[in-house]
Amino acid sequence: MEIKDAKVYFWQLIQQKQLSHAYLLTGKSIAEKRELTQWIVQSLICEKPHASGGACLNCMDCQRVAQGQFADWMTIQPEGKTIKVDQIRDLKEWLSTSPLEASFKIAVIEQADLMGNAAANALLLFLEEPAENVYIFLYSQQADQLLPTIVSRTQELLIVESKIEDQLDALVQNGIHRQHAYLMKQMGSDDTLVEAYQAEEFEQWIISLNHFYELIISRDPYSFVWVQQQLKGYLSYWQARAGIDYLIWLNSYLLLDRYSLSEDETNFSPKMLKVFDKVKLNSTSTLHHEINNLLFDSKIYLNANVSPQLIYEKIAICSCRW
Ligand SMILES: [Zn+2]
Repeated sequence: MEIKDAKVYFWQLIQQKQLSHAYLLTGKSIAEKRELTQWIVQSLICEKPHASGGACLNCMDCQRVAQGQFADWMTIQPEGKTIKVDQIRDLKEWLSTSPLEASFKIAVIEQADLMGNAAANALLLFLEEPAENVYIFLYSQQADQLLPTIVSRTQELLIVESKIEDQLDALVQNGIHRQHAYLMKQMGSDDTLVEAYQAEEFEQWIISLNHFYELIISRDPYSFVWVQQQLKGYLSYWQARAGIDYLIWLNSYLLLDRYSLSEDETNFSPKMLKVFDKVKLNSTSTLHHEINNLLFDSKIYLNANVSPQLIYEKIAICSCRW
């Protein structure tokens, strides 16, 4: 998702005290990951957050964070070409002490894919038993550049670069329908998507995913059959992965009341928009969070080479149990 969407998403998590201990921010732009992380810290400590959500950016606390003077934040960057095990040990020691200014500590590991095995394993032990009120953000361009065991203990969020209009223009020049291009940007791995693109098939895939989402959020057991009958044709590894990124985006989109889906921005037919209106009326934010967690878990299974069909079936089964 784009940084503006990510901010709304994290603001919801902060308010509902649902922030996880470890996030993996993927995507190309390190500047946007830094901006987002700083904003999250500011939003955690700001005394006068905006009524519409998020840090005010003007109070003393917000300013201190912006100026890098917030004592409970530590950032690790590679020393030379790697992140060394001693850096991770120092970080763990720092994290084990009490916060000085806030009620939490935050650690950022930039270019986390440059951790050698020793450093990664040292971090792993820490991620397995996260300390109270400690938040860790790992940055990496792609999740598969990290040890799967590390990835599986984080929530991975793809941050799409914001100059999306330029990127959409480029995709449209490649013969891609503008609305499809917009949805593709929410799915990550766009090179593969662009290569395999056929307008009609893409359209059918999105319709299938939308209906699947409607079924799981309605806790309808038919979702299981839907995987076998309709989604089965869209479950190659990369497509399954892009589909889950799409569902994460859709779920957060519907969770956040400030968005109203409009036809010109997304690809939804008037019929589908009506369905989503119904979903919004009948679902709770708790349910959206359950689905959110379920989808993040699904990405972990996918990275661990579990069969995509099994993963989608598991989403269907779990959603019926709530
Ligand atoms: Zn503030």
